[in-house]
Amino acid sequence: MPSIARVIVDVGAGREFDYAIPAELAPRVSVGSRVTVPFGKQRVTGYVVAVCDESKVAGLKDIASVVGDKPFISDKLLELARWMADYYCAPVEAAIRAVLPGAVRRKGRGFKKRLFVSLAEASDTNSEVSGVRCQVSEGSGTEGKPKLTGKQAAVVEVLREKGGMFLHELIAELGITAAPVKALEKKGLLRIEQMSAMRDPLAKKNILRTQHLELMPEQEEALSIVREAVAGRDDRSRPRPSSSSSETPENGRIRERGRGRRTRTTGQAVPHVVLLHGVTGSGKTEVYLQAIDHVLGEGKGAIVLVPEISLTPQTVERFVARFGDTIAVLHSHLSDGERHDEWHRIRDGKARIVIGARSAVFAPVAQLGLIVVDEEHEPSYKQEDAPRYNARDVAAMRGRMENCAVVLGSATPALESWYNARTGKYRLAELPRRADDRKMPHVRVVEMRLEMAATGRVSAFSRDLLEAVRLRIDRAEQVMLFLNRRGLATSLICRQCGYVAGCDQCSVSYTYHRSDDLLRCHICGGGRKVPERCPGCKDPSFKYSGMGTQRIEAIVRKCFPHANIQRMDTDMTKRKDSYDRILGDFRVGKTDILIGTQMIAKGLHFPNVTLVGVIYADLSLHMPDFRAGERTFQLLAQVAGRAGRGEVPGEVIVQTYTPFHVAIQAARRVDYEGFCDQELEFRRELSYPPFARLMCMTFRGASEEKVSFYAATVARRVKKTVEDKVIVSDPAPAPLSKAKGQYRYQVMLRSPSARAMTGPVADVLRDIKFPKGMTCSVDVDALSLL
Ligand code: ADP
Ligand code: ZN
Repeated sequence: MPSIARVIVDVGAGREFDYAIPAELAPRVSVGSRVTVPFGKQRVTGYVVAVCDESKVAGLKDIASVVGDKPFISDKLLELARWMADYYCAPVEAAIRAVLPGAVRRKGRGFKKRLFVSLAEASDTNSEVSGVRCQVSEGSGTEGKPKLTGKQAAVVEVLREKGGMFLHELIAELGITAAPVKALEKKGLLRIEQMSAMRDPLAKKNILRTQHLELMPEQEEALSIVREAVAGRDDRSRPRPSSSSSETPENGRIRERGRGRRTRTTGQAVPHVVLLHGVTGSGKTEVYLQAIDHVLGEGKGAIVLVPEISLTPQTVERFVARFGDTIAVLHSHLSDGERHDEWHRIRDGKARIVIGARSAVFAPVAQLGLIVVDEEHEPSYKQEDAPRYNARDVAAMRGRMENCAVVLGSATPALESWYNARTGKYRLAELPRRADDRKMPHVRVVEMRLEMAATGRVSAFSRDLLEAVRLRIDRAEQVMLFLNRRGLATSLICRQCGYVAGCDQCSVSYTYHRSDDLLRCHICGGGRKVPERCPGCKDPSFKYSGMGTQRIEAIVRKCFPHANIQRMDTDMTKRKDSYDRILGDFRVGKTDILIGTQMIAKGLHFPNVTLVGVIYADLSLHMPDFRAGERTFQLLAQVAGRAGRGEVPGEVIVQTYTPFHVAIQAARRVDYEGFCDQELEFRRELSYPPFARLMCMTFRGASEEKVSFYAATVARRVKKTVEDKVIVSDPAPAPLSKAKGQYRYQVMLRSPSARAMTGPVADVLRDIKFPKGMTCSVDVDALSLL
């Protein structure tokens, strides 16, 4: 038996320490065990990451105790955590913290115990139980049998039917107090014991079960590709439609060989990641459901990741309706207790399917057969604190480590994923048409400059859009109006002198909030009252001039006084139930017009929506980010996907000042591939992802001088150590140059290999001592460049 354990303590900056394993603890110590150990003068907790027989250190201290009776983290998940720490340049304890939810890690947070009531000896002495019933129903005192009151009899009756119940449920159901139950226990007829009550967030929900739909041929094809990925090989003899012919890139440089898995059996090894590119409404979810069913049939489990914002009851119910209570849901609204219980249900194999947001990629599902990442292009899969991982990429890595298939689904895959599919690293499955063959909506682009010239005034709504809304209201159909609010559109600008009201802590303009007449900073949350006069020129007409969703709502209310109008954005949905209520009202048709931000663009399914209006498509194009075009295209395609999901074909009207932009033109044609071809050319020329990995270092501190000095120093030192093919930018103020009183400078690195950057950067940072209050964060595969 190994005598030494290597331990990562929660407080110990990335280092591992050796401890001796005392003989009495030896049977319970293995890789992944949670232990307490002496550390300096304290006693701290940590994880065993390896066991061995020798240590370079003499006079080791003993492990003090072991927490729990099973390891908390499997060696596979530990391997994943180590990979994350390495790849994303983060301390390994931080990676372990990401893998294990706080609710599980914290000590003393056990299951909530409840009193459980069952009939005494119910299992082995049926005769006695039925004897009790006999005696009750006959109402006569057979000798040796205790006499029961009516309430006691009822208790016995219910328990006989159900086998056992929690005390609080039993007394609620019968409308009694605990007294009759206690009395029965005294008579020795019942047993009352402590039992962990699973705080199942799905409990008490009656959801109708659904059956598999008969798949369309494209879905069938996609499913068989996923099955092959699950098996790790290609068993089919017929040629694959999605590969070779259409895949040949214009430029030979794109083509690299994918690393397929070698397998034991016949058939060719195939990549374990499948990119499922399917237009909105093409039936991707049905493919997920049947793929999950397939892996369950093989005795394996599955994880489904969806963006937090799409993790709605509607989404969850589609899975519960198919698979019942073998599902665990992990979302941010769970209480600590619920999270703890769900985690244990998963680890103990009681739940075999996990649905959750980003961090569910670490769910301790044993025998993992499939990970689905829905809407894989979503930036919300990226964690913005260390470790700054992307759950999609972690899923692909976990899939490789655990020999499990990964399906990435999207109508508008990230260019990185598309490129991986084109070069053979991933396999591609495509669903080019909507399920039930409904038409893609017709997309009309309205050029606002021409509109302005024709009407002689600036307006948020074109005549075309107003007319189209009116038509839908007359026909009792529903409308969604969409405004991507990022950017300057909601700021307060003086029409006389051009003064912009902005937060002096954060170098961004304030956003005007009509509901409380406040100017708010969306970075630090600070705010103030709207000044009476312009602080620049004292002009009294200084007033709200932006175009946020609130303003759009006001205009729509004026134009359509009889319509039912609802607005949904983050201000409205701080509370979870208002989000559900707004969507619920819209679903049942109580609302005619729904106005919103990105929130309404994602995966919601409303058959009666026949018009989607995009008020100002250019907003997201003007972001200082090389992905602005990609984001805009994705947003427009997603929003357009909301229209016409029912019987009546849909229409999308896009208002813009730059109608010929590639992103807008491609969105008009619903032409994902056309967009990618153009965008990839641009990325290749500038060596941007997917042609290079991008690392963003951000230096923050209260003194601009120091921040810029250290950014320059680090950049210089890194430049000296990296290979030639790594491009290191000069330090520059970040687009968001000041936030929460801290100045921000950035240094960008690009290289075909992440390791060529992370190694040298980690070395340089280790040797530098920043002044107090200054920090440097490292973001590998950065998505947010602000
Ligand atoms: P996606 O996930 O690609 O947006 P969904 O899975 O939500 O698409 O499917 C859109 C609609 O089409 C849903 O109402 C779904 O029930 C229906 N659907 C999917 N596949 C089929 C099928 N094979 N036959 C009939 N209807 C289907
Ligand atoms: Zn601020």
